Amino acid sequence: MSKKGISRLDFLKTGALSTAALGSGLLTGEARKSRKKSRYGDAKNVIFMVSDGMSSGTLTLADLVKQAHYGDKTNWIKLYESDREYHRGLMDMASLDSNVTDSAAAASSWGCGNRINNGGLNWGPNDEEYKPVCDIFRDAGKATGLVTTTRITHATPAGFASNVPSRGMEDEIAMQYSDRHIDVLMGGGARHFDPERRSDGEDLYSKFTDNGYTVVKTKDELNRATRNSKLLGVFYDSHLPYTVDHNSIPELERDVPTLAEMTKAALDRLDRHEDGFILQVEGGRVDHAAHGNDAGALVYDQIAFDDAIKTVMDYTDGRDDTLVILTTDHGNANPGLSGLGSGYRDSPKMLDTLHDYKHSFEWMYGELGFHWSDDSLNGYMVKDFMDLVETATNTKINRDEGLMIKQAFQGKLRAPFRNRERPGPVLAGVLANYNGVYFISTSHTADYVEIAAWGPGSDRIPTFVRNTALFDLMVDMADVRAYAEG
Ligand SMILES: [Zn+2]
Repeated sequence: MSKKGISRLDFLKTGALSTAALGSGLLTGEARKSRKKSRYGDAKNVIFMVSDGMSSGTLTLADLVKQAHYGDKTNWIKLYESDREYHRGLMDMASLDSNVTDSAAAASSWGCGNRINNGGLNWGPNDEEYKPVCDIFRDAGKATGLVTTTRITHATPAGFASNVPSRGMEDEIAMQYSDRHIDVLMGGGARHFDPERRSDGEDLYSKFTDNGYTVVKTKDELNRATRNSKLLGVFYDSHLPYTVDHNSIPELERDVPTLAEMTKAALDRLDRHEDGFILQVEGGRVDHAAHGNDAGALVYDQIAFDDAIKTVMDYTDGRDDTLVILTTDHGNANPGLSGLGSGYRDSPKMLDTLHDYKHSFEWMYGELGFHWSDDSLNGYMVKDFMDLVETATNTKINRDEGLMIKQAFQGKLRAPFRNRERPGPVLAGVLANYNGVYFISTSHTADYVEIAAWGPGSDRIPTFVRNTALFDLMVDMADVRAYAEG
């Protein structure tokens, strides 16, 4: 109940009052949207944005850090404060065989409208192959695009455009992208296109070129590429580097485009198609940073994803023909800023230390020559770990903390929750004494996830929605249902 003794629901039911309220700006876009109902076919274009493995805490951390360091809120949160018509709700991302989904089953639920077992891509439990949404849009005459910071053959983009029983079949997924004529592909994953690296020795770069694609491998090549052809951009051997490393290493900054830059390049090309397009944009390494319990990598990759949101907002400004869905596929490790110090008053300045981070944990592992298959690292002293943490994070840890990190790398540390004995969680635990951010595990969680949307069809999303409903929404709002079978 509001202070005036009238509930928001009553308020909305009362037409005159509602109109008055709209005029005075009392209601948000969430309420305003109820005035207009979108119809099937209203969405010429669909843009589906996924921050992979984004727990609610990640969304909050990025917003707090962006405010503290850049004096501005994230675009995601600004959407909620805006006058735009938008939808906001929660989504149930369960897969067929678990309420904790993996990214492959999650993307498939959107990509084909079926819940499948974890690990597959648009592949049913009895070997059914479900037609993915990019194939449906292509058959309807629309253009298709996939952009990510992971290998382009990774689970989330592949969930919109491939059929394989196992997500690890990335050589096959790259081949399917070629056979299925995805118009714009950008991300990492050179190993799945390079004949020297593919198990079948096929030169996929040549295959794409022969099919009329422009193939680019650096930011400069991307900037110079024609907008009149299909585009394959592969900018790294595996996943693109984390933003925190990208910002500290000049060659990466020079050669590897950001997610926002790739998103802009994709929209520049897809927008030329008269019959519209579907584009998936993934901030894929938010998930990896969460698995790794790496707060710096996590927050700055989420902010990079948020920059791509702005690119999409700029594109949709002034148009009413583009459905944008903004969400994540599952929680991961559920990080949060803890209340620390007297009256919790230390927390803000602790979080501020992230601003001085120069490198990811992944970078530290590279410096150590650490491989997950070999936990030895016997040649290193406690001081070596203390120095490495300081180089990467500008944080001076003490000897006890350095010793715990050393023990974790050597596989000698014990913790009540065994998930937390590995180097990542132990580094995160030590750094939490300085940055205030802690994680509950190193894996996906069952949390219902944040979903926002705007444009035609966003008014049709229930406040609490099942993942598979988004497939139907995209297909119906773009009016391509006739191409969904066969
Ligand atoms: Zn994951």
